[in-house]
Amino acid sequence: MPPGGGPPRGGPMGPGGGPAAPGGGVATQGYAKPLPGVDEETKPFWDYAKQHELRMQKCTKCGDFYYPPSSMCPHCHNWGAEWVKLSGKGEVYSFIVVRRATNPAFAKEIPYVVAIIKTSEGTRLISNVVGCKPEDVKIGMPVEVVFEDINEDFSLPKFKPV
Ligand SMILES: [Zn+2]
Repeated sequence: MPPGGGPPRGGPMGPGGGPAAPGGGVATQGYAKPLPGVDEETKPFWDYAKQHELRMQKCTKCGDFYYPPSSMCPHCHNWGAEWVKLSGKGEVYSFIVVRRATNPAFAKEIPYVVAIIKTSEGTRLISNVVGCKPEDVKIGMPVEVVFEDINEDFSLPKFKPV
């Protein structure tokens, strides 16, 4: 398994471009799309995102960054990590253009891009590429994080071309 590899679990953007919602998303007034599912392990990620900081866990033993959040390092199985601020830079590792909304809440945004972003720290996360046309998105395209404040509780990390 490469660093940061494995199926994204609990990432900010689930299939269809919405915030992933393990355990079921909760729609709230004013923001019709599913909100991220937050648990004990993912809460710090979202708390930092709210402050417009992209942070991921860095293992205190092997020093690797990993994502999605977990109590245990997936590389060396160490129980211990600190939340380190990332550069916010990365590149488009893979992407799709969504042209048909699987959830009516996303209908207005068609077409939009759901991408796997490889951060400069080597981790991967699923997010959206914004700030350019879907047809301009390319594999390997350098991007940087931007935060979208969707309500009082959540800011979603998305990525725009550098
Ligand atoms: Zn480790």
